[in-house]
Amino acid sequence: MSATIISGKEISAKLRGKIKEETHALIQSGITPGLAVILVGSDPASTIYVNNKEKACAECGFYSEKHVLPADTTQDELLHLIERLNNDPKIHGILCQLPLPEHISEEAVIRTIRPEKDVDAFHPVNVGKIMVGDYDFLPCTPAGVMAMLDECGIDPRGKHCVVVGRSNIVGKPMSMLLLHRHGTVTICHSRTKDLADVCRSADILVAAVGKAGFITADMVKEGAAVIDVGINRTPEGKVVGDVCTAAVAEKASYITPVPGGVGVMTITMLMQNTLKAAKMQLK
Ligand code: NDP
Repeated sequence: MSATIISGKEISAKLRGKIKEETHALIQSGITPGLAVILVGSDPASTIYVNNKEKACAECGFYSEKHVLPADTTQDELLHLIERLNNDPKIHGILCQLPLPEHISEEAVIRTIRPEKDVDAFHPVNVGKIMVGDYDFLPCTPAGVMAMLDECGIDPRGKHCVVVGRSNIVGKPMSMLLLHRHGTVTICHSRTKDLADVCRSADILVAAVGKAGFITADMVKEGAAVIDVGINRTPEGKVVGDVCTAAVAEKASYITPVPGGVGVMTITMLMQNTLKAAKMQLK
């Protein structure tokens, strides 16, 4: 078998087309969706992500603000900026690029962003809403994965879905979304026993580990759909996922590439959340 490649680029282009249309209509009624992105320090990967988010805003017709703060910015200064953006009517979504320098508490930052402007869906209020299945925003990466599955007609209902990774940003919410869609979900982490066996039993396998080439072909069931969330940089500077793509593609029915897979979908979902935030605040 040779897997069908699920192109995040193609699905994103389609979704962004719809976002642009809706944005155009919203602008006619006097509201331009606005996103503020905050970057503290100059981490090269974070700088690329922030620049890509800014470009996506321009593409969708949004208003955007980029706040690049020095690495020695104090927590108080950062929280003060967030408070100002919380009260700025031009801004409907606020995103603070993680990770933050060690002297700043990520939790304090996440809790300071008003839940209705929390387009990353990291605030405990939004996390709780996701748990109960009654949410305003879905976290961007898991939402992007669900959009990819939907686009390919891959229905999690009744399937064994294995998520490797349990972070608050990816693994946990990913598992919850698959559960909401009636998947039978197993969450794996660094203490999971017989990980390869668990992965081999997956109909849908989501890798969110952060280790290049972690998922090898022998860990994948024939015909499984394999979603690679990982973004890793090799010593040569190449961007690769968590999955040995070429070998796994020989066994899987579907596979997502890196780059051009989940990463681009994540940004598209951020645009979708910002548009939704603008509509909610209009009401
Ligand atoms: P974290 O480091 O927060 O979480 C990694 C998870 O992998 C942890 O739950 C950890 O387990 C688990 N893990 C680590 N080693 C093993 C192992 N040997 N066996 C089983 N599980 C293991 O990472 P994130 O969730 O933030 O990100 C994961 C990857 O996804 C990264 O490459 C990141 O760059 C990428 N990413 C991509 C995005 C995109 O848009 N495509 C967006 C966000 C992240 P434990 O909890 O036990 O430590």
